[in-house]
Amino acid sequence: IVEVRDLYKSFSRGDEKIDVLMDLTLDVQEGEFLALMGPSGSGKTTLLNLIAGLDSPTEGTIRVGDQIISEKSESELARWRTRNVGFVFQFYNLLPVLTAYENVELPLLLLQLSKAQRKKQVENALSLVGLGDRMTHRPGQLSGGQCQRVGIARAIVTDPTIVVCDEPTGALDAKSANDALNLLGLLRSELGKTILMVTHDPHAAERAQRIVQLEKGRLVGGNPLPALARLN
Ligand code: ATP
Repeated sequence: IVEVRDLYKSFSRGDEKIDVLMDLTLDVQEGEFLALMGPSGSGKTTLLNLIAGLDSPTEGTIRVGDQIISEKSESELARWRTRNVGFVFQFYNLLPVLTAYENVELPLLLLQLSKAQRKKQVENALSLVGLGDRMTHRPGQLSGGQCQRVGIARAIVTDPTIVVCDEPTGALDAKSANDALNLLGLLRSELGKTILMVTHDPHAAERAQRIVQLEKGRLVGGNPLPALARLN
């Protein structure tokens, strides 16, 4: 469902050109739960952002679902992302003045769905993460673990093609981290979601079906192509 081919990404800092990703090829299968690991600065977030259409590669192609996203303009990418990518962040990125319901509803407002349709999808997503009884709570009235579950509900409410998670357990205690990982596992096993997760946490990575390692902008070890035997 994700095909990354001969990918290069560099940033310029003053006169200097910094190569962050080099000659990177990676496939992710539909319904796969993949963990991206590697030392700080190895390019994990940069790769995740490129696959999520938050940035464009210097060279190479990225296909997600039936779209070659590396060829899209910035405005096309923004539209594509809203429908096709669910984001889960380390610090949840919830709006504090909005209720859990309203936070999860936001992506659907961008898609201009009807109020009735939004209600159905938001309630489904919040029930799925076990927060059907917390819909009118604001983030300040919820624990960190509950906030992350709201974040996960928001990520799946549009039924996206891929769910990308950047250090989803980074701000959580062991119990909440475990709950969040169980939930991500459930999204894969019950809804068939494709999940890409950047993490430093070996316990989190263990819950994925495949771990790929980045080092200095290149994939090392692991297998860039999916281990079909490990799916399911
Ligand atoms: P961490 O685990 O610390 O989050 P990471 O593996 O996710 O690290 P990236 O955030 O992808 O690494 O960053 C890789 C390199 O690219 C770093 O040296 C960083 O400074 C550089 N970099 C990332 N984004 C930009 C940017 N927008 N402009 C310039 N340099 C950048």
